[in-house]
Amino acid sequence: MKKISEKMRVSFDLDEVLFVSPKTHKTEPDLIFPLNKIFKERLRYGTPDLINSLQKMDYEVWVYTSSFRSERYIRCLFRCYGVKFDGIVNGTRHQKEVQKGHKDTLPQKLPSHYRISLHIDDESIVCTMGRQFGYNVYQLEAQDDDWKEKIIARAEEIRKREF
Ligand SMILES: [Mg+2]
Repeated sequence: MKKISEKMRVSFDLDEVLFVSPKTHKTEPDLIFPLNKIFKERLRYGTPDLINSLQKMDYEVWVYTSSFRSERYIRCLFRCYGVKFDGIVNGTRHQKEVQKGHKDTLPQKLPSHYRISLHIDDESIVCTMGRQFGYNVYQLEAQDDDWKEKIIARAEEIRKREF
């Protein structure tokens, strides 16, 4: 059993998970000018609601992306939507803290390194590596009107089992 004070961590990939194309997915409304010129990414519909709900339920919510967008850029963009992450791992941080000193290439993401219990990603390779490297993944890709309920259910199931 882990200490009660330790909150369970859930992380989200950005590209194709929280950032999606309005051509294939329902999205949150565009930001107002001039913010929409600075932040061109479009958020999957329901993103602020899901993240805020998870945090209200006492989860920590992180971003884990292989992209090299800066932490500051990510924080500013999401702040415009009323979202504040508990932690952010981008490609730079991953290379410095996870990959450094390893001769062989580790997986592109290693949520267990950051004590993340559930990671949401679109890429099959990230999902299949989970078993080997000890992390739980939820694969999310296409438009899904029930993604909020499904992810919360998965997180609750893990929290009941592991915390
Ligand atoms: Mg992705």
